[in-house]
Amino acid sequence: MDLPKTADVVIVGGGVMGASTAYHLALKGCRDVLLLERESFFGMQATGRCAGGIRYQFGTEINVRISCLSLPMLDRFEEELGQPIDLRHCGYLFLLTEGQDVAAFRQQVEMQNRLGVGTRWLEPAQIADLVPLLNLEGVLGGTFNADDGLADPNSVVQGYVSGARRLGARLLNDVEVSDILVEGGRVRGVVTDQGEVAAPVVVNAAGPWAGEIGQMAGAEIPIVPVRRQIVVTGPMPDIPPDFPFIIDFAPSLYFHREGEGILTGMSNHDEPVGFDQSVDEEWELIHLEAAMQRLPVLEKAGLASRWAGLYENSPDAHPILGRIPDVEGFHCIGGFSGHGFQHGPACGLLVAEEILDGEAHTLDIATLYIDRFRKGKEITEYNVV
Ligand SMILES: Cc1cc2nc3c(=O)[nH]c(=O)nc-3n(C[C@H](O)[C@H](O)[C@H](O)COP(=O)(O)OP(=O)(O)OC[C@H]3O[C@@H](n4cnc5c(N)ncnc54)[C@H](O)[C@@H]3O)c2cc1C
Repeated sequence: MDLPKTADVVIVGGGVMGASTAYHLALKGCRDVLLLERESFFGMQATGRCAGGIRYQFGTEINVRISCLSLPMLDRFEEELGQPIDLRHCGYLFLLTEGQDVAAFRQQVEMQNRLGVGTRWLEPAQIADLVPLLNLEGVLGGTFNADDGLADPNSVVQGYVSGARRLGARLLNDVEVSDILVEGGRVRGVVTDQGEVAAPVVVNAAGPWAGEIGQMAGAEIPIVPVRRQIVVTGPMPDIPPDFPFIIDFAPSLYFHREGEGILTGMSNHDEPVGFDQSVDEEWELIHLEAAMQRLPVLEKAGLASRWAGLYENSPDAHPILGRIPDVEGFHCIGGFSGHGFQHGPACGLLVAEEILDGEAHTLDIATLYIDRFRKGKEITEYNVV
């Protein structure tokens, strides 16, 4: 398909955020939507490299409320879009080894319960019953929510891409946006490696590159890339099918069942900001040692695959959603800081509502506007992995 000369809305980036926004705009009747992705396939960057976890267990009300909107959208996804997404409600189990984390998570359980989320506090003996394979040395307690779980990121992107196309939206690969046209404080369109497209609305859905796209429009968007990596093992017959998504919170170490093996990751908190996506082998050794200590059965596992990807971090680990004040017609959906896949369905809907109806109305997103940083109203999320 040739690059069109005009569109009502141009979306930069074809990960879960761009694809969900394109679908929800088209579903709400805006059919002249053009999504531009520079890779040859959609969802190849952060979305395709993520761990696929979906959870209600967040530390701020706004994140829990987004989950309460987004996770049921994933429950309905196959019915609505005809695309299976390998949805598994295997539950998330947080393991806590620090007194301050115990206090914070106990408060969170109360907050989540108040919002209708069924998270439970577990004593170490209950954790041992739930997952006997774990070494619980140092564990003071934990939280479990059976409604949390996993879904396949590539299938979610593909479902939204196909759904948007069926509704008339145009979603193109191999097109790189190199500039955003702004005149008199208003967006006029985009420049690409294949020509210009005039458009009154541009959505920045460029994930880890959202800061760069912001600069093209002359807007400072504080989203930075930070490398995170994953290892997947070969088959591990000892791992039961109902093995939950487990997060050892203090070291940011996690495991879940992936095929017949285990997927595991551990965040390096000293990782510098940058676009490097090569595997850091030194960190991988530190990670695997910690993983084997917590889940000793991993010692018997072989390596099946490994990769690195980029978190798209904002200063307070919450997304930057909605209009960018100094550039009329420029909207942002980014900065999810390591937990965006699961919020893609809801946030694409909310940004589509803002563009077409003037405001997001399914959920109030005012606390997520970028001007919170100017006003000193950051809302830090505790449960960052
Ligand atoms: C290792 C890892 C594990 C994670 N685990 C989880 C998890 O368990 N659960 C969860 O919810 N989240 C998780 N995340 C976070 C999640 O992956 C992201 O929050 C989410 O995928 C962000 O989606 P996105 O669409 O904003 O970004 P992306 O998927 O990166 O999409 C942005 C797209 O923009 C394109 N682009 C950039 N610049 C341009 C340009 N100039 N022109 C055209 N196209 C451009 C890129 O090619 C890219 O495809 C994880 C992330 C990583 C790295």
